[in-house]
Amino acid sequence: MKIAISEDCTQCGKCVRICPQVFEPDPLRVSTPNGLIPAVFDEQVVDAARTCPVYAIVIINRVELGV
Ligand code: SF4
Repeated sequence: MKIAISEDCTQCGKCVRICPQVFEPDPLRVSTPNGLIPAVFDEQVVDAARTCPVYAIVIINRVELGV
């Protein structure tokens, strides 16, 4: 999965609490590692995107098994 964090991020920290392996606090907004996020974190990342109060987590693509 690839994601992006929009400039709407308010640094509330919800995504960091849900999946600290992917979301890292940053002075301007939450940052994510470069490249593909391992599939093992897919469920937590989707949960974080749904939970983000300003919908700042944009899922760019999601690799589905068998697709
Ligand atoms: S949950 Fe959304 S607003 Fe909060 S830190 Fe994460 S990306 Fe930013």
